[in-house]
Amino acid sequence: MLREWRSELNRLLILIAIAAVLGLIIGKITLVVMMALIGYLAQMMFQLYRLNQWLEHLPDTELRDPPEATGVWGWIFDGIYRLQRRERDAVNHLKSILDKAQESSAALEMAVVMINHRGNLEWWNKAAETLLGFRNGQDQQQGVTNLLREPRFFEYFEGRKYAEPLRIQSPIKKNLILEFQITLFGEGERLMLVRDVSQMHRLESMRKDFVGNVSHELRTPITVINGYLETLLDHRDGVAPRWIKPLEQMHQQSQRMENIVRDLLTLSRLETKALSKEQDRIDVNSLLREVKSEAEQVFENKSHSFELESEPNLYLKGSISELYSAISNLLFNAAKYTPESGKIKLTARLSEKGLDVEVIDNGAGIAEQHIPRLTERFYRVDESRSTDTGGTGLGLAIVKHVLARHGADLEIYSVLGKGSRFVCHFPKDRLLD
Ligand code: ADP
Repeated sequence: MLREWRSELNRLLILIAIAAVLGLIIGKITLVVMMALIGYLAQMMFQLYRLNQWLEHLPDTELRDPPEATGVWGWIFDGIYRLQRRERDAVNHLKSILDKAQESSAALEMAVVMINHRGNLEWWNKAAETLLGFRNGQDQQQGVTNLLREPRFFEYFEGRKYAEPLRIQSPIKKNLILEFQITLFGEGERLMLVRDVSQMHRLESMRKDFVGNVSHELRTPITVINGYLETLLDHRDGVAPRWIKPLEQMHQQSQRMENIVRDLLTLSRLETKALSKEQDRIDVNSLLREVKSEAEQVFENKSHSFELESEPNLYLKGSISELYSAISNLLFNAAKYTPESGKIKLTARLSEKGLDVEVIDNGAGIAEQHIPRLTERFYRVDESRSTDTGGTGLGLAIVKHVLARHGADLEIYSVLGKGSRFVCHFPKDRLLD
């Protein structure tokens, strides 16, 4: 750069020198030097004009060769040309990345929708048009909740709790079941992924129906067998002594089967039937009192001390029978898995997030590695301990389902050999005045 400027300066100096010599010869030095400078200025103006013309008529995407020039102007033209070429290469590179991203998302079977901070559609791929019915162009900048009007979607979208996906029917094809998963990013923007889970949904329904039907079909035969075994054992005087033990074992096992079938039917009902819209106003204190008094009767022989500690005037909205079953499952477990003369406490208190109902025992406790799996169906920490106590391995699965239907969740704390604490967190919107 310095070289060009130096040679330009040299040119100017030579021009002035020649003009001065010429001026001296003809005796008008000032005039000739002035004219030479005006000529130089005119040439500068002309180059500026060419630069302006070139820049003004530059196409958006392609490059046009710069005007021919030497010296400092040649250097300026080349410099600008180089900058333009670099910028064009960067733009082309970004464009090709964008094209590839768009092509690959267009090929996806999953709908991808970008939503701005106002909840309006920014961009979506082809699958969003087939699964959700979004129309190219027309629906740009439309509010997503105006286009997807299902109330559950509205609640999910506005609730901003996206840890779990949402399943609803497709707004345009009623036989499709769609799963929505939303991720927040940037400044309040949302990325929504929607996939067709109809096949999985059908298989799940078949599984649920199968379990429901089998349990239903087994209920009557088991009740009959159990009934006869009970009658036989009630009249054990008329039974040959060598049959008493087998009969007792048969009775014990048939009772276990009856319990399993009962719990499977409960689970199947919880999975297939939504919580009714008309829900009970539950007086938490009287519910806990009832559960406690039932546990005291059932576990009379274990001499536990049951304690109830609860704030007054707590009312919940929900299904009283389901919550009774959930809390009694927890309390019965506490009584079952605590050795005789244990201390079992039932508490209810308001928390920042809503209401906490706790069941605390000082019994066997549970080793840490089992805790995350306790609510799985048929998961037992210790098979022999559980069958001894008549457990089915379904109790905590029922508790989890019931709580989920009430917007609540279950937390389990336990120390092996010391005891356990099961906490049900009910959200504020479940509380009634
Ligand atoms: P079960 O019918 O076998 O009791 P649950 O689903 O109710 O099935 O419980 C699963 C397992 O969790 C039980 O088998 C038991 O080992 C363990 N468990 C549940 N509650 C307690 C508790 N309060 N103390 C110790 N172990 C417990």
